[in-house]
Amino acid sequence: MSAMKSSSTASRRAVRSAAARGDLRADAPASPRARAEAAIRATGQRVTLARVQVLEALQGAGRALTHHEVEQATAAAGPLNRVTVYRVLDWLTRTELAHRIAGEDRVWRFNSVAPSGSHAHAHFRCNGCSRVICLDDLPRGVRPRLPAGYRSQGLEVTVTGQCPDCRRAVRQAS
Ligand SMILES: [Zn+2]
Ligand SMILES: [Zn+2]
Repeated sequence: MSAMKSSSTASRRAVRSAAARGDLRADAPASPRARAEAAIRATGQRVTLARVQVLEALQGAGRALTHHEVEQATAAAGPLNRVTVYRVLDWLTRTELAHRIAGEDRVWRFNSVAPSGSHAHAHFRCNGCSRVICLDDLPRGVRPRLPAGYRSQGLEVTVTGQCPDCRRAVRQAS
């Protein structure tokens, strides 16, 4: 988020974000596995099965996953041990293919890039089941002005409420 970042870094990031969303090219790979692989390859770093499995799980989830949920989601394709999952999630976060979101329950949740590919975006957290999803970009007006001498390194906006499942459960119970 630094203004000092070179435009080449910005454009690499844009390419990576696009690749992670799978819309880099018209002939973008169709299968979820190939999509995850392409996004990892675009970082220029090693494509390992564990990285592909974890990113594929995040991209396919439609919501942010905890470490534990990633372990469960990857179990079918060949279980990854806990330490590997930790390492891969850390790597995905560092390479900006994923981001992590702090929950009220003090559990980190991980998601692949936001719908817009932007890092400054809002989240929705369900008060019932703690489900977290990424929302679109923040409107400009949401960015508060900082007092002199302060420097922004990020902005977290979380909308809280009920997800469709919890709303249904509440309606059925009443
Ligand atoms: Zn819920
Ligand atoms: Zn997010």
